Amino acid sequence: MNRYWGDLHNHCGITYGYGSLKHALDRAKSHLDFCAVTGHAMWPDIPERNEETAFVVDFHRRGFQKLYDHWEEVRHTIAEANTEDFITFQAYEMHSSLYGDHHIVTPDDSLPLIYRDSPAQLLHDSGCDGITVAHHIGYTPGYRGINWDLYDPAVTPLIEVCSKHGCGMSETAPYPYYHNMGPRDSRCTVYEGLKRGFHFGFVGSTDHHAGYPGSYGDGKLAVLAESKTRSAIWDGLKNRRTYAVTGDRIKCDFSVDGHLMGSIVPLTSPRHQISYRVEGCANIDKIVIYRNLNPIHIAEGLTMMPKSEDNRYKIRIEMGWGNNEQELFPWKGRIRVSDGQILEAEPCFRGRSVLAPSASQDVSQDNINEIDNRILSISDDSVSWQCFTVKNPSPVQPQTCAVIAEIQGSRDTVVEIEINGHCRRTSIGELCRYGYSEHMKPYHSQAYKVHTAVSCSQYTAENSFTDEWEGPAFYHMEVAQTNQQWAFVSPIFFE
Ligand SMILES: [Zn+2]
Repeated sequence: MNRYWGDLHNHCGITYGYGSLKHALDRAKSHLDFCAVTGHAMWPDIPERNEETAFVVDFHRRGFQKLYDHWEEVRHTIAEANTEDFITFQAYEMHSSLYGDHHIVTPDDSLPLIYRDSPAQLLHDSGCDGITVAHHIGYTPGYRGINWDLYDPAVTPLIEVCSKHGCGMSETAPYPYYHNMGPRDSRCTVYEGLKRGFHFGFVGSTDHHAGYPGSYGDGKLAVLAESKTRSAIWDGLKNRRTYAVTGDRIKCDFSVDGHLMGSIVPLTSPRHQISYRVEGCANIDKIVIYRNLNPIHIAEGLTMMPKSEDNRYKIRIEMGWGNNEQELFPWKGRIRVSDGQILEAEPCFRGRSVLAPSASQDVSQDNINEIDNRILSISDDSVSWQCFTVKNPSPVQPQTCAVIAEIQGSRDTVVEIEINGHCRRTSIGELCRYGYSEHMKPYHSQAYKVHTAVSCSQYTAENSFTDEWEGPAFYHMEVAQTNQQWAFVSPIFFE
């Protein structure tokens, strides 16, 4: 199975988001393998319109109508965008106070836009081979958090566990909710659904509202599929061979008795062989394997020290800061190595951050997502890119872009890093001791940071062990990196 990266839940100007659909698809193609764009379509139990709710009710209704009026065009554009290099799915979103929000996703280009009261009715009456995905599940019950009492895993086999809203895994999970929709409620978490015995897979997506699918740091999913085709990726989604990441593309392999993540299998033995392999993008903080939500195996990052035989390293170059609120600041970067080889370059690019319309924002910004962030070229000894950044909205909310290069070599491998004309030659050994930062101007400046290099023993881990347990069990894995990036890997269920 191969690993493909995508975003199944994001918004743009086809409803009450911002930015054109064309730019959204261009952005998605530039750094993802697959994507669905989920126009806001309906809210069957929308609050009654009165003086206080007028703004919210009106912008939703206008957005729903906009999607309805242009549905044929949207559907056609999404269908046309599906190619050999980039896979699309048809989708749209249902808000629901009663059921919690869901989006319908299907590979069927004939998906009709119809209005129904529940995710199950919507899916059934669409006539498509589809699923619904529950998202931002952690909100207050009745206030668009998930309603586990009405949950049906046959309709909703995937739960979006993290997005721009935050993380809904559990009461103690990272990224609690701070959107104006309110706090994370401990009754509406992923753990609660698993405790109730439901079987579902984990996905992440951005829920971006300015047309930048896959925007770094907002959530993404990996799907395990045989090939990069619509049918193969669809098979992976339907069978829950998925996991969620908050930002970094952490490579996770996880199996129990040879069954892949998301499997639901009959219980035949009380002995289970658990195997995992993790390749992170920064220092691993911890890897935890849970049986029935109890931790049974912990790999501790503090014990993962560089080894003398290490021959792979990751260098992260992060760009941004400054005081440019609206105007994009351009970056051009390049890494060149001698006596080494560039194995991979991971883009960590962001769009402008918008989560929902506000009364003060202009909605006619079709170009808000015309941001041509790209890896320009990659070869054995060189990688180059361009990206554009705006200032961080607050000191604890980064809006930076980054590129992570994995380099095969030794500590003596020479690395030349050139960012906007600032060039420095150094060695991997030196970068393992210190990273560095530079500013573009004297004050309130855009800046970049070359992070301290990470050695492969610090970002990779694998293990295999046996667990003895009588009775039904499900196993899942969570991975944390020291840079606050996480992966949540779908459970394997024995029943
Ligand atoms: Zn949404």
